[in-house]
Amino acid sequence: MADRPWVRTTCPYCGTGCGIRVQADKQGRLLALEGDPDHPANSGRLCSKGMALPETLAVDQRLLNPEVAGKVVSWERALDHVAQALIRTVGQYGPDSVGFYLSGQLLTEDYYVANKLMKGFIGGANVDGNSRLCMSSAVVGHQRGFGADLVPGCYEDLDLAQLVVVAGSNTAWCHPVLFRRVTEARKRHPGRTLVVIDPRKTATAMEADLYLPIKGGSDIWLWLGLLHHLFITLREDKNFLRQHVLIDENSLELASSYAQNTTAVARLTGLTVRDVERFYGLFAATEQTVTLFSQGIKQSVSGSDTVSAILNCHLYTGRIGKPGMGPLSLTGQPNAMGGREVGAMPNLLAAHMMLDDPGHRKIVSRFWNSNRLATKPGLKAVELFQAVGDGRVKALWIMGTNPLVSLPDSQSVRRALARCPLVIVSDVVRHTDTTALAHVLLPARPWGEKSGSVTNSERCISRQRAFLPPVGQAKPDWWILAQVGQRMGFGAEFNYKRVGEIFREHATLSGIGNGGSRAFDIAALAGVDYDGMQPIQWPVRQEQGLPRGRARLGGDGRFFTPDRKARLVAVQPGKTTNILPDALRLNSGRLRDQWHTMTRTGLSPALSRHEPEPILELHPDDARCNGVEEGMLVRVVNTLGEAILRARVTTTQRQGELFAPMHWSRQFSGQAAINALVPASTDPASGQPASKGGYVMLLPVTQHWHGFLLTRQRVELTGSWWCRHAMEQGIWQYRLAGTFPLSNWKEETAAWIRGSGKEEWIDYSDVAQGRYRRAWRQEGRLMGCLFIEQQAPLPAAAQLLSFFTDQEWAAASLLSGRMAKIAAGGRTICACHGVSEGALRTAIRSGDTSVESLGKRLLAGTGCGSCIPEIQGMLIA
Ligand code: SF4
Repeated sequence: MADRPWVRTTCPYCGTGCGIRVQADKQGRLLALEGDPDHPANSGRLCSKGMALPETLAVDQRLLNPEVAGKVVSWERALDHVAQALIRTVGQYGPDSVGFYLSGQLLTEDYYVANKLMKGFIGGANVDGNSRLCMSSAVVGHQRGFGADLVPGCYEDLDLAQLVVVAGSNTAWCHPVLFRRVTEARKRHPGRTLVVIDPRKTATAMEADLYLPIKGGSDIWLWLGLLHHLFITLREDKNFLRQHVLIDENSLELASSYAQNTTAVARLTGLTVRDVERFYGLFAATEQTVTLFSQGIKQSVSGSDTVSAILNCHLYTGRIGKPGMGPLSLTGQPNAMGGREVGAMPNLLAAHMMLDDPGHRKIVSRFWNSNRLATKPGLKAVELFQAVGDGRVKALWIMGTNPLVSLPDSQSVRRALARCPLVIVSDVVRHTDTTALAHVLLPARPWGEKSGSVTNSERCISRQRAFLPPVGQAKPDWWILAQVGQRMGFGAEFNYKRVGEIFREHATLSGIGNGGSRAFDIAALAGVDYDGMQPIQWPVRQEQGLPRGRARLGGDGRFFTPDRKARLVAVQPGKTTNILPDALRLNSGRLRDQWHTMTRTGLSPALSRHEPEPILELHPDDARCNGVEEGMLVRVVNTLGEAILRARVTTTQRQGELFAPMHWSRQFSGQAAINALVPASTDPASGQPASKGGYVMLLPVTQHWHGFLLTRQRVELTGSWWCRHAMEQGIWQYRLAGTFPLSNWKEETAAWIRGSGKEEWIDYSDVAQGRYRRAWRQEGRLMGCLFIEQQAPLPAAAQLLSFFTDQEWAAASLLSGRMAKIAAGGRTICACHGVSEGALRTAIRSGDTSVESLGKRLLAGTGCGSCIPEIQGMLIA
């Protein structure tokens, strides 16, 4: 492959924004993929998700043609249909009757055209997206504190910091490459300290020198208490405060009244006084401190105020925008920041200009040559779907996201979409919970086939480049939007031929009327060679004829408020609502090897082995009180909905709190979509949902039997609990559990097995043993098999895969009871080398006492390294 050129692109998953380089052949087959050694975000490292990208490029789940009312149509017909429907809706009900719901996985250019079409030409501002669910509280905090939505620090600060505080983030799983950067710096400099604040003892917390198991939702008390502590111990940076910060007098007063002393803070946060004092002492004494924070802080009814409380502590000590110090908000999605740069939020215009600023409106309307620019902010995500539900919004265009799974109170979202007169969905995948309710489906190009730019958590703009030929009729999102704009009568303003033209327009606008008043300025990139553009951090200036990025902001004391001073903001705790007495608090979050609603990572066998079933983690005391045992199914229920999850009883969970992953949709499990149980409570300033603040009751489920189905096709399952995941050779495994007894196995399972009518069926049952097995083949080829046991353990499904390739397989050996003796290795911990939990535990029992020795013996942890924190946890346990 030495003769093939490398194509440099960017990972489509988390906001770390790792550079990737790939080689593909002329037929569009991917030959090689690895971390880009020259990308500043990762210097060649990738996590298990990035490494498994080749497994997610299969086309069999793709949406490949436009569809209107369930029928495949031409692009001409689909685009005309959308344009005419939008014209009719706006004509009849006005611009506020239309909404766009976008995605942090869109490229900046897609976002730009969507925002321009809606705010510049449709004339409404109902433009929001799934970034609302992960970033908006940080945006409010940044705007309030710095006068602009800017992240002051950069990743290099992680290499330099003496103290890293991780608040509300399982960084080891959600931003693994950044976490490796922290752990590697600690290895090189043993005196450095890691503090982790999280209700769960996560893989990140296992690595901490000081772990604070904080009560869910109580973070703001801890940070108010820290500001008070810094105040009474005279830790302020007097010069910095005097010259560069405007202090709201109430900020210090409120901090001291809500968190008077460490005893009060300990009581309110569920921590020990000793731990609170240790944390405060470390923070006060360490100048080079970085605070990483993520969804545990932001997804809260106090999200914006907690972000401000963190920023206050850094501003008060002058630890901002200097090497090795500052707050760093970790972005959940690859391009949430790019979306904000172009104004894809309902209160923004473009290039960090504000919709409620008449001067900004003038600049943008002139630049876009529009006389119908929106004049007032639109609806935020949760409000937008509520407006769909009550009929105010009559046409909704959803692009590249799956709100039926990711938004809170998902049953209400389902009802809203079901009654909406026009739901348009642009997506890569044919079958999602959301596409099931669409009137129009538009096939978009996925990662690998599309080109554009993205911005990561440290303001670094990188190119995503196409390296595969487009499949089917799929088109870039910007092209689809521009075509609709042209058909709505705005041809001159949407006449883009290439994606680079859009980037240049966006870059040019960022410099107009700016003069240093707005943080976001990339005008110096308007003239660069777009195809060859290198990763660069905004703001960008022209220096000696070359564009130069800026790693840090705020260290020089220059902020973006009218007086150029930062703000120490007065904040106070919000109110949480427990909708059930005696209920348990439900925390939701990410798994290491899954992403969003699994539409891409769910296709990867390697990634599916880490957590193949939807689990519920709970403390042993809560398990005992609720009659729940390890491994049993549990009904998790409140007034909004219910889910059935597999119990994992663990002391890593706080008593009174539960954890469930947020990834599972109806496509991957019958009853595990967790947002059905989360109320639509939001932060009052940011509108970000409090996705970690549901309250639920638990009911143990009697499991009458268990089993699995291996099949080459997707099937519709009813009458059983199920979840599915990808295996090798295009086989799907459905894990099954009987919440009702079955009396006639053959008859009652027949509906699960879709055949062509030409199959040969082979059955084996042993009523006394409570065992039923069935296989079916066509022309000698095994098409599927079903294994059910009432009591006995099941064989390891992976051991049966060889039967799917072997033309000579014998039914007796497939269905024989001997298969039951094959030992299962449990879930896979090391995705790169396929090392199971069982194999690791065996090696640990036989004397391996370090990650290094396990790596030597089993190769575990020697690939991308994402599993190292988990292996370390197993060694400690
Ligand atoms: Fe992709 Fe992993 Fe890097 Fe995130 S940390 S950008 S998921 S490779």
